[in-house]
Amino acid sequence: MKIAIVGAGAMGSLFGGLLAERGHSVTLIDVNVAHLEAIRVNGLRLHTDQGDRHIHALRACQPSQAEGSPDLLLVFTKTLHTASALAGVAHLIGTETQVLSLQNGLGNVEVIQRHVAPSRILIGVTTWPADLVGPGHVHSHGQGVVRLMSADGSEHPMLARVVQALADAGLACTADPAVWSAIWEKVAFNAALNSICAVSHCTVDQLGAIDDGRDLAFAVVDEVLAVAQAQGIAVDRDGCAARVADAISRHVGHKPSMLQDVLAGRRTEVEAINGAVVAAADRSGVPVPCTRTLLRLVRLVEARIAGVVTTAR
Ligand code: NAD
Repeated sequence: MKIAIVGAGAMGSLFGGLLAERGHSVTLIDVNVAHLEAIRVNGLRLHTDQGDRHIHALRACQPSQAEGSPDLLLVFTKTLHTASALAGVAHLIGTETQVLSLQNGLGNVEVIQRHVAPSRILIGVTTWPADLVGPGHVHSHGQGVVRLMSADGSEHPMLARVVQALADAGLACTADPAVWSAIWEKVAFNAALNSICAVSHCTVDQLGAIDDGRDLAFAVVDEVLAVAQAQGIAVDRDGCAARVADAISRHVGHKPSMLQDVLAGRRTEVEAINGAVVAAADRSGVPVPCTRTLLRLVRLVEARIAGVVTTAR
């Protein structure tokens, strides 16, 4: 399969590397020039449970340098960059190209739909972890899964081909018509742990230091899942709360991506997570006071980082 990956950071490089190792024609497309250059010179250094290796059988280029229409365009930017990234590779999207998003958060289909019809969009969720250690160097560990479906719910041949390609690459991929339940449960998990850690600068385990941290996390989970249910999406509240409790007790020292972004002075994905939940809650009349307050606090942190200043009265 001819595969292009736009947003070839931690996750894009992991998926691209594993797909290239299975013999697919993979192009990594990114705006991080140092990362691209390191891959061109040394290959992609991928460290997983299967070992540490350099993968040379893939291309790495900037959006304007990419050519040809891929069978599959995998979008793996942070959600705040999806629109600009797709605009940068719009010339690659052919009449047969399928576009897949496994990004976190909500609203990804809506952005991709500006470029292709829902029948050519695949949407899903992944529990694989990845970190960009340095230019051209990505690390992942443990076992994750990928679950995906067509955005319009149809079971066309390309859905099966993509699932097979990801499964063959060792990514434990299945087609799942209930993927929206998994997406919302992951949004609930992230809305709780990411935004509380981003505001408090606690690591995930430190949220369990006092009842207030743990109770706030569970309150956010309940709010987000109530919004999902108001949209007719079945969710497993106990399972989701158990995953949050497990993370608080076992993810010692872990800084969720939103906290990493704040510490690095970058904008976060809060708009696609807490922001999208609050917007959906307002449309359905579901109260989400904790999720809304955390959204406002993260926005305040982002404004402070961006150097937004007001005149003292
Ligand atoms: P990342 O920051 O490592 O990678 C994103 C890449 O997108 C960067 O290399 C950046 O340079 C690139 N980019 C930004 N603007 C671009 C543009 N206009 N054109 C092309 N490339 C552009 O992020 P990540 O950790 O790989 O996460 C990607 C998505 O996957 C996010 O939605 C995240 O929430 C989700 N996710 C991450 C993990 C994880 O463990 N890292 C796990 C599951 C889901």
